Amino acid sequence: MNIGLFGGTFDPIHRGHLALARAACERCKLSRVLFVPANVPPHKQAQPLSAFAHRYAMIALATAGVRDFAPSLLEAPEEFELKSDRGKTTRPEKPNYTIDTVLRLKQSLKKADRLFLLIGIDAFTDIAKWHQAEALFRECEFVVASRPGFSLADVANALPASLRPRQEVTRPFQKQAATGDLLLGGVTIHLLNEVYQPVSSTAIRQAVAAGKPLTRFVEPSVADYIKKTGLYKGR
Ligand code: ATP
Repeated sequence: MNIGLFGGTFDPIHRGHLALARAACERCKLSRVLFVPANVPPHKQAQPLSAFAHRYAMIALATAGVRDFAPSLLEAPEEFELKSDRGKTTRPEKPNYTIDTVLRLKQSLKKADRLFLLIGIDAFTDIAKWHQAEALFRECEFVVASRPGFSLADVANALPASLRPRQEVTRPFQKQAATGDLLLGGVTIHLLNEVYQPVSSTAIRQAVAAGKPLTRFVEPSVADYIKKTGLYKGR
């Protein structure tokens, strides 16, 4: 079986996330995509974050009608509770590293199963800074949602130093769009072209704070949840 793991803060989950997952399913014949909200995202520790329970609930709502999509508790806090009516929570100490999540998930997979890590190109360009980045490339294949303006050379140059091809090798690909499959000595990256939609969780939080409608950005059930819980108001 081909399994997709899609990690993020999902604060909230939006149509860009769902489009990426759908395109990855089609391209890599995924039987299941696990949406894994991080309890403590390593790269976003400075900004306020909604409670894990809210972010998980919105994923459950957004994926409810899709057979192959499922919310995952792989990075859930040991015990989580809502600490205020706005849903903000205090930060526990330990960040969720993707390599730990991948290794934990693999314990429940069969040898023949293939694991694919879904990620947008913005996050991918920072991948070399991730905890045990090289190990991550050994443990799973990557599915990267690219967008216009990023080249194949940008993707290769983002790799951790030990896996990165030399400049002379990547230079000819500076003008080649980031699309197709990139196979580089043990690293497999499937590039999804033009999946990226002009939407972000940040823009959604700002829209709520400004009292603007959300239906263009999120599933109706998620918009309804945000309204009923008062999430993002006054941020
Ligand atoms: P924020 O605005 O709060 O930073 P975000 O919209 O980038 O959030 P995250 O939960 O941080 O959402 O992202 C999870 C993953 O989804 C990342 O790999 C990110 O690159 C990818 N992603 C985010 N927005 C889009 C989009 N519009 N299209 C495709 N992928 C996206």
